[in-house]
Amino acid sequence: MAAGEPQADCLFCKIVAGDVPATVVRETKDVIAFRDINPQAPIHILVIPRAHYENAGELGAAEPELAGILLAEAAKTAAAEGIDETGYRLVFNTGAGAGQTVFHVHAHLLGGRGLNWPPG
Ligand code: 5GP
Repeated sequence: MAAGEPQADCLFCKIVAGDVPATVVRETKDVIAFRDINPQAPIHILVIPRAHYENAGELGAAEPELAGILLAEAAKTAAAEGIDETGYRLVFNTGAGAGQTVFHVHAHLLGGRGLNWPPG
C-alpha cells in the first residue's frame, strides 16, 4: 500500500470518493470539510486531506506541506462559519486510547459555544 492512497475499508476515503454522503462545507484539491454526523458543539466540522493518512503524526511526517494546508483550510472554514472571532478548537484525536475511531486523519473544528479546558 502506497502512502496516501485510498483505502477500500476507510469511511472517510468513501466520503472523499462521494460513495458515502456528507454535508460538505469546503472543498479544495487537497482537502474537504464536512459536518460531523454526531455534533458535539453547534459547529462541529471535520477537516480532512483527500489523501489517506492514519493520523496527524503520520500526515505530518509524510507530507508536512499538506499538514500545513490542512490547518490553513481549517482556519478558513472557521472564518466562513463565523467563529474565528469568538474562538474555536481544533482537535486531532490520535490513537484509540485518545478517542480516535476513524483512522483517516481529521481535524475536529469545534465552536459556536464556550469550550472548557481541560477537555474530558
Ligand atoms: P474520532 O473519534 O476518530 O476522533 O472522530 C470521528 C468522527 O467522525 C466522530 O466525531 C463521528 O461522529 C464522525 N463520524 C463517524 N461516522 C460519520 C459519518 O458517516 N459521517 C460523518 N459526517 N461523520 C461521521
